[in-house]
Amino acid sequence: MKRFASLLSALLLAVVLPRATAAPIKVLLVDGQNNHAWKATSPVIRKILEDTGRFTVDVATSPLPKTGAIAGFKPRFADYQVVVSNYNGEPWSDETKAAFVAFVRNGGGFVSVHAADNAFPEWKEYNEMIGVGGWGGRNEKSGPYVVFKDGILLKGTLPGGGGGHGSQHDFLVVTREPKHPIVAGLPAEWLHVKDELYHRLRGPADNLTVLATAFSSPSQGGTGENEPMLMVTRFGKGRAFHTTLGHSVEAMNCVGAATVLARGVEWAATGKVTQKPPADFPTADHTSSRK
Ligand code: ZN
Repeated sequence: MKRFASLLSALLLAVVLPRATAAPIKVLLVDGQNNHAWKATSPVIRKILEDTGRFTVDVATSPLPKTGAIAGFKPRFADYQVVVSNYNGEPWSDETKAAFVAFVRNGGGFVSVHAADNAFPEWKEYNEMIGVGGWGGRNEKSGPYVVFKDGILLKGTLPGGGGGHGSQHDFLVVTREPKHPIVAGLPAEWLHVKDELYHRLRGPADNLTVLATAFSSPSQGGTGENEPMLMVTRFGKGRAFHTTLGHSVEAMNCVGAATVLARGVEWAATGKVTQKPPADFPTADHTSSRK
């Protein structure tokens, strides 16, 4: 009986331990300045992450713009595994920028959500992390733009502004790296809900892998190119995931956009994705949204 009890407890341990060791991933969500409705979208990002059961989320909200208080904004990046940015605002202090660069260079994860790729046009390392960005005076001096043609990623060097979008509409997201953990097992094509389709983003585009593109239709004011929607880069020992999706609460609540965000945050933090594709993931013909 004693042997049976110890065998039983060993079995229980074997069952219980793997779950107990899968500690939640510590996420720091940065917001506080954005030309988008960050007060509405940050809680959505937080809920998307927490609903997976994989993350705990703290929020670092910067001082408001034009108060001169940004110099005192010093999030404790090193206390987290991954930083998610919903920030598009004033430059951080040199000290905070250096702490952030060191965090990612030493293996921390970074995730840029929608207009976070508009931020910091002058910050070299930040642009290396996001690969390409838009607005803020970006142009050919910021680097090439990237487009997919005939299944190949091309870097365009024509002069011109970096960043733009046509009218908001539903659009098809097309996977280009189906084996990458963030998109592995997801449909190869899925219909995203009405959102801005960013185009002509420009940047260093080094160490950049484009996971998914969308066709920027001239009929919607787009470029006629397959523009990058989901990207990853390496920076030092760190990983960065860049999603251009998520202009609004509605766009973030697309099951496709929410799923790739949560998977991208996990990958940036750990290099792996353990989340299963949800049953209500959009198809090539139908969008799917959560309340
Ligand atoms: Zn937007």
